[in-house]
Amino acid sequence: MEKYQRFLASGFKPFDPLRLAEETERIVTRLGSEGLERRYTGFYSVPVYRGIATGYAVGCCLRCIYCWSNWSRDFPERFGEYYSPK
Ligand code: SF4
Repeated sequence: MEKYQRFLASGFKPFDPLRLAEETERIVTRLGSEGLERRYTGFYSVPVYRGIATGYAVGCCLRCIYCWSNWSRDFPERFGEYYSPK
């Protein structure tokens, strides 16, 4: 966890997004009683386009400068709860 790439600061070292994806996967997923579960901070549903639903997943394997996400991207172990697809 100490080497886990958090937010980018001036002079950051380039990182491997594939490796970060593997590290993130280890943090945000687990095998629960209903199978594979993933961490989300919440869910949102609106009736546009005949109904849509959004799941707010924590963690990401990229660190886009203009990212709209909050701290749950860089500190996925501190945010959200595990949910199964069900
Ligand atoms: S913009 Fe999207 S892909 Fe880029 S770091 Fe944010 S959540 Fe990840």
